[in-house]
Amino acid sequence: KRLILVGPPGSGKGTQSPIIKDEYCLCHLATGDMLRAAVAAKTPLGIKAKEAMDKGELVSDDLVVGIIDEALKKPSCQKGFILDGFPRTVVQAQKLDEMLEIHGAKVDKVLNFAIDDAILEERITGRWIHPSSGRSYHTKFAPPKVSGVDDVTGEPLIQRKDDNAAVLKSRLEAFHKQTEPVIDYYTKKSIVANLHAEKPPKDVTAEVQKVLS
Ligand code: ADP
Ligand code: ADP
Ligand code: ADP
Repeated sequence: KRLILVGPPGSGKGTQSPIIKDEYCLCHLATGDMLRAAVAAKTPLGIKAKEAMDKGELVSDDLVVGIIDEALKKPSCQKGFILDGFPRTVVQAQKLDEMLEIHGAKVDKVLNFAIDDAILEERITGRWIHPSSGRSYHTKFAPPKVSGVDDVTGEPLIQRKDDNAAVLKSRLEAFHKQTEPVIDYYTKKSIVANLHAEKPPKDVTAEVQKVLS
């Protein structure tokens, strides 16, 4: 399966991804995780991306399309993939279609994590992540077994620099202006499934499984 997860920051894409990935043996490509790794490693890509990310704006299409183009060549992605946080603009969606077309492939399903903006601030400001795996926790909704520590590795959790109310506002603006048109783009292709992303994680998982079965 070739799947896309689209939704505003905090809508639960990263939480559902590992479950879908394991069930269908797909590769999971999260452009936000890849960009943060590049920023941390101070690679040329990371240096170019940092300013936009800190402000809650989108990184340029060329940079993220380049990352995805490289990543999709991995053998683990050949059977199928989950794109989490990509495409975020119509240009990115068109480029993705072109990349896939070369191989006679196409996107099978777009999971739209539909949710009201009002819920997102509490989700974002309570989020703690384990940077190397991308696992996320929430102080109230999904606390780790030991406060501040990853359940699996025992390594410390961090809060993302952009996970505050002020930067969230810019990220939501970018979502509505630049990413909502992506949902329209795929709606025209009749491959969008709308999820009730405000429900508890287990309910969202059940909806995803129903859509993919
Ligand atoms: P969230 O999990 O809150 O939806 P991400 O981790 O996906 O956020 O993205 C964090 C930041 O990385 C974004 O605010 C943006 O600056 C950048 N980014 C991630 N994916 C893309 C993309 N496809 N296009 C442009 N910028 C992106
Ligand atoms: P995204 O990847 O879309 O930005 P995440 O999956 O990281 O979103 O979720 C944002 C925060 O909300 C995390 O702290 C996560 O633990 C929590 N969360 C995810 N899904 C739900 C849900 N259905 N109900 C309540 N909290 C959730
Ligand atoms: P090029 O070097 O001309 O870009 P590649 O074979 O490296 O051609 O792949 C181009 C893009 O096509 C990849 O980045 C990926 O998006 C996609 N792709 C590669 N292999 C497959 C495949 N087996 N199925 C679907 N898409 C693929």
